[in-house]
Amino acid sequence: MERPIVIVGASLAGLRAAQAVRKGGHAGPLTILGAERHRPYTRPPLSKELLVGAQEAGDCALPCDDLDAVWRLGVPASALDLAQRELILDDGERIAYDRLLIATGSRARLWPGPQVELEGLHTLRDVDDALALRAALAGRPRLAVVGGGFIGCEVAAGARKLGLDVTVIDVAPQPMPALGHELGERCAELHRAHAVDLRLGTAVERFEGAGRLEAIRLADGSRVEADVAVIALGAVPNTDWLAGSGLGLEPGVVCHATLQARGADEVFCAGDVAAWPHPMADGELVRIEHWTTAAEQGTAAGRNMVAAPADRVPYAAVPYFWSDQYDVKIQAVGLMTRAERTEVLESDGSRFVAAGVRDGRVVAAVGFNAARRLAFYRRRLAGMPPLEELAAEVAADVKALVAA
Ligand code: FAD
Repeated sequence: MERPIVIVGASLAGLRAAQAVRKGGHAGPLTILGAERHRPYTRPPLSKELLVGAQEAGDCALPCDDLDAVWRLGVPASALDLAQRELILDDGERIAYDRLLIATGSRARLWPGPQVELEGLHTLRDVDDALALRAALAGRPRLAVVGGGFIGCEVAAGARKLGLDVTVIDVAPQPMPALGHELGERCAELHRAHAVDLRLGTAVERFEGAGRLEAIRLADGSRVEADVAVIALGAVPNTDWLAGSGLGLEPGVVCHATLQARGADEVFCAGDVAAWPHPMADGELVRIEHWTTAAEQGTAAGRNMVAAPADRVPYAAVPYFWSDQYDVKIQAVGLMTRAERTEVLESDGSRFVAAGVRDGRVVAAVGFNAARRLAFYRRRLAGMPPLEELAAEVAADVKALVAA
């Protein structure tokens, strides 16, 4: 009988791995463990369509009925015993595996100050969070968003669509700070044009209220009145349960390029929780929180899990990410966090593409309403072309498009 494969994390990366494992010929036992009580669903609509009522929870479900898997949902793994090849659950139950995939993703970063027990404070990571926030927004509260990253900005855009008064607070001087100064300024203009009150370059000092949130006091002395606040301070990888397992956990589960965990040949990893040496990062470890990376890595890890060791393939795709805010689709390819500066390569009305440049080479590209152009950049970025070379190619390409 074939030996069991176990997947921890019943979301996008875990599901894609399970599908690849079956496609790759594993006919033996397959168990999928998930901390949430839901079967896999897709998260991007949670801060977009679901939040504004254009989709329901069922619309986010990912098809997964044909896997012939044992689903253990609402069951978090609490430890890993590499020597015995066993997962350990809270109640002490042990689940044996022959090969294991870790796909436990990430969770919303909590407010780092003293924990506040006020009604009206929300985070947004799972479908239950999104439904709770949607219900809170239905009362037409004054909304404050703490953190102007992509989830904070999407929530702000959705809430404006619902007609709410929205304030976004961030210590950074621009929203979407990961995109750098120039692009962050464009995001700021976008939100101001939609009447979002941006309080930038200042920190939250405390949340005020008696039982319910009433206001947020800022470090610059100002006060933002708010009935509901979304704490959108990014995400942290779910690695706590692996403490003491012997696996490297910084900046996520440390893997080889084939997504095998370092130091445990039978353990693989995929998605938000995985850290692996990306060729565009000079072999440094990267951990990426993008939908497409989680999906692609799940498939790649699943394939490698059932392949002979010599046939395992490194995962080296150029990262791709999108965010929808108002009528703008923001898309990024490459490793924007490694860029030292940006250079505008295309600008035509609302369409705009900027390159992220490091040591004269293009390591990222960010587009606003440039969906049809991003595939070109994703293809070209794998080789990190010199800026001048790519700029000349873009100019020729755009000229040809205009002529066509
Ligand atoms: P996750 O989706 O985080 O799933 C991990 C699963 O593992 C969870 O169900 C978790 O409960 C479970 N788990 C955790 N610990 C344990 C344990 N100990 N035992 C068992 N199970 C455990 N990306 C984009 O590119 N574009 C977007 O527009 C976009 N929008 C987003 C909007 C929101 C609101 C959020 C939250 C994310 C968004 N993302 C977006 C990011 C994208 O959804 C993630 O990159 C993707 O979900 C990662 O998939 P994953 O399977 O690695 O992890």
